[in-house]
Amino acid sequence: MVNYKDLGLVNTREMFKRAVAGGYAIPAFNFNTMEQMQAIVMAAVETKSPVIMQVSKGARNYANASILRYMAEGAVAYAKELGCAHPEIVLHLDHGDSFELCKDCIDMGFSSVMIDGSHLPYEENIALAKQVVDYAHQFDVTVEAELGVLAGVEDEVSAAESHYTKPEEVIDFSTRTGCDSLAISIGTSHGAHKFTPEQCTLVNGVLVPPPLAFDILHEIEKKLPGFPIVLHGSSSVPMDEVETINKYGGHLEAAIGIPEEQLREASKSAVCKINIDSDSRLAMTAAVRKHLAEHPGDFDPRQYLKPARENMKKMYIHKIVNVLGSDNKLANCD
Ligand SMILES: [Zn+2]
Repeated sequence: MVNYKDLGLVNTREMFKRAVAGGYAIPAFNFNTMEQMQAIVMAAVETKSPVIMQVSKGARNYANASILRYMAEGAVAYAKELGCAHPEIVLHLDHGDSFELCKDCIDMGFSSVMIDGSHLPYEENIALAKQVVDYAHQFDVTVEAELGVLAGVEDEVSAAESHYTKPEEVIDFSTRTGCDSLAISIGTSHGAHKFTPEQCTLVNGVLVPPPLAFDILHEIEKKLPGFPIVLHGSSSVPMDEVETINKYGGHLEAAIGIPEEQLREASKSAVCKINIDSDSRLAMTAAVRKHLAEHPGDFDPRQYLKPARENMKKMYIHKIVNVLGSDNKLANCD
């Protein structure tokens, strides 16, 4: 049993409280490689932003649970080495699908977990979330639960259709589960292909997806004033990265994300955590493809992973500063 506090990590409670009050959102970036982890830490330190490093079940299987725990501990040490005396780094499980998995993560140093029972009938979702909350809170680990279903595909999580969160359920759900934050479905979607071209409108040659359901978000905010809300599936799928990938041998068709203006708007509300995964994958792949195409003789992984790391760092900084507004929001910026 390892407690996250011994690894120098923090839970989400205080940072969410400040984010909701301050009208900004904390970035939740998925990672499973050392380069992603380094890029996240560099970006968070440079911008003095709190950050959530999150791992899906698939990423945990890929990287190995023990290695991840040391990577998170290493991330804290690295942030301090880079000059951040009081980093606020959360290690979060993304889409935990069982009590056992959540417990295992809590026992191995995670400071926050998500239990995703959104595909279950309402009462079963509540029972599962409550079971995780009861265990997690003994160790001061925070819990994110989900109501409503997002469309799209991400690791093992997939759904053909989305079901918007019903505002009339949120008070009952949050009260009975005791969860610390709530992921909702208002039109974001997992993966890099969030919408079909048919669902979009063509504006100046660019496919613009249907807007997020801000009316539902505002209704939820009214029911749960100040309660931390989470948006999943919030990559923007930058067209320049998609074009670079396709220019250098890739084949990504009709990749469409959530416009950044809408995420900026959401950040000003009770939305205090925004999940970004696909954009990092795209930034990494674009840089690797470009480098290898331009330097066909290179075979040292450092030669192509260094520009990949740089490109991800640039993207993370852009999100923090220009979209979420979490820069200079550490409790102690010294
Ligand atoms: Zn998700």
